[in-house]
Amino acid sequence: MNEHAPALSTPSLSSTPRLHVAQPLAAGAAVTLEGGQAHYLGSVMRRQPGDWVRLFNGHDGEWAAQVTNVAKRSITLNLGHQSGRQEIVPDLWLCAAPLKKGRIDWLAEKACELGVARLLLVTTQRTVVDKPNLDRLAAHMVEAAEQCGRTSVPDIAAPVSLERLLRDWPSDRALIFADETGGAPLAETKAPAPAAILIGPEGGFTPAERAGIRACPQGVAVSLGPRILRADTAAVAAIAVWQAIQGI
Ligand code: SAH
Repeated sequence: MNEHAPALSTPSLSSTPRLHVAQPLAAGAAVTLEGGQAHYLGSVMRRQPGDWVRLFNGHDGEWAAQVTNVAKRSITLNLGHQSGRQEIVPDLWLCAAPLKKGRIDWLAEKACELGVARLLLVTTQRTVVDKPNLDRLAAHMVEAAEQCGRTSVPDIAAPVSLERLLRDWPSDRALIFADETGGAPLAETKAPAPAAILIGPEGGFTPAERAGIRACPQGVAVSLGPRILRADTAAVAAIAVWQAIQGI
C-alpha cells in the first residue's frame, strides 16, 4: 500500500463503524469497549456478534475487529487483520490563538482532517477567550479522525503565552507567521517540515507582538493574500497551501 493512499485497504470495511480506542492493537487481541462507545456500537449501530468494526489508537494503524459479545454496558471485540497502516504525519504544528467556542471547535476539526501533527493554543494580548476547553477540542479531533479515516489524532499541547512560545521556540522548526499586514506570499515560501503555522486572534497581533515574532530567528512572515480572513479561515487556508507546496 502506498503511504499516500487512503488508510482503508479492505473495501468491504468502508461502511463499517470506525472508532478510536486507547488499547494497544494487535492480531488476536480482545478489546472491550464501555460507556459511549459501547452505546454507539450496540444501541445506535446495532452491532451483533460476528459484525465488523474498525479500530485505531493513533499508533498501531487501523484494525478490523469482530464483535464477540454484546452486553448491556459493554461490547467485546476480537482483532482480526490490520486494515490500514499507521499514517505518516507531516511534522506541521498549528499554533493559534484561542477563538470562541464554535470557531475553535471547527478549527480543531479541520486541522485534524487536513492532517496537522499538533495543535498548540497561544494566548496573545488581544485573545478574548480565557480558558480553552482542551478535552472538548480533543474530542472534536478524535471524532474528525474517526470520520475522515486518519489513523493518527493530532496532539493538543498545553496553552502558552506568545512570549513563552517565542522564548522556547525550537531552533530547527520554521515558524510561519501569517501576518495580515504583509509578508512573502505563502505559496512562494520555502519552509519545509519541521514547521509551524502561527495564526493570530480575531483582533490580530499588536504591533509589538508582530515585531517580536518577526525577530524570531525561525520566523517567516507570510501573506495569505490581499483579503483579511477570519482567524479560523486563515488557519485552514495556510495549512492547505503549506501542504500543497510540500506535496504532503
Ligand atoms: N483584526 C485584524 C485581523 C485579524 S485576522 C484586522 O482587522 O486587521 C486573524 C489572524 O488571521 C491574523 O492575525 C493573521 O494571523 C491571520 N490572517 C488573516 N488574514 C490574513 C492574510 N491575508 N494574510 C496573512 N494572515 C492573515
